[in-house]
Amino acid sequence: MKLVTFTEGGHTRPGRVDGDSVVDLGDAGLPGEMSALLAAGAAALARAAAADGARFALDTVTLEAPILRPPKILAVGLNYRDHIEETGLDTPKVPMIFNKQSTAAHGPYAPFHLPRVSTKLDYEGELGMVIGRRCRHVPAARAREVIAGYTVCNDVSVRDWQMRSQTFIMGKSFDTHCPFGPWITTADEVPDPHALDLKTWVNGELRQDSNTRHLVFDCFALVEHLTTAFTLEPGDLILTGTPSGVGIGFEPKRFLAAGDHVKVEIQGLGFIANEVVAEPDSTTLI
Ligand code: ZN
Repeated sequence: MKLVTFTEGGHTRPGRVDGDSVVDLGDAGLPGEMSALLAAGAAALARAAAADGARFALDTVTLEAPILRPPKILAVGLNYRDHIEETGLDTPKVPMIFNKQSTAAHGPYAPFHLPRVSTKLDYEGELGMVIGRRCRHVPAARAREVIAGYTVCNDVSVRDWQMRSQTFIMGKSFDTHCPFGPWITTADEVPDPHALDLKTWVNGELRQDSNTRHLVFDCFALVEHLTTAFTLEPGDLILTGTPSGVGIGFEPKRFLAAGDHVKVEIQGLGFIANEVVAEPDSTTLI
């Protein structure tokens, strides 16, 4: 099942993609927000899969971030062997975890910002996993039980802000810098998340071309690691790292400019496509 959050008629709610249409899950008596729908568990998801509410053509609705405000967005640095090579750094002995603020969540086709304060904007195509139930101390062998599904992410990165302090948080958390979607593909339709081609294009030029089999710490190992420290909750989004081919890996470096188009596609999970726009004046909020 492909779960979306969509807006139609000024109203935003969860839906199920069925071919070229979206089935409104709001009519099925299910929770009206994606994290709550996932938290409702297997019986609710079975009802979502069978629901037959109002239908809208996919190209007439706006697809939003599948989870509008994930409780947590976590990410991993240096987690593909080919990306580690391009950075010249050593392979981490433990996963290098950082977070993106949940306010960075952004729609799969919505433009993201070139910040006023940076000229070093970069893309990172990544496999994302979405947590389906509250969990702690999950051994890797049981991690499948807590993963609701998978999605396509761009871990948009502001390199100058990322590198100028000891933590990545500022450079990874600018508003609009976590586009993901276009939907959550439920885990039952992804038999092996570690055998998926991942590709990123900028203006039609292929920049990243890898496969999730090259992950250093795979999805299940990451769940075990993270839940050693804290509870994961329904709707938490975990970005699993990016392969080689990011803009900062080129010489000369190839950062993004306003007007660029970035597309990330993962085998079986669809694609997200976002234009880069100059940060508008309307972001000032005081
Ligand atoms: Zn990343």
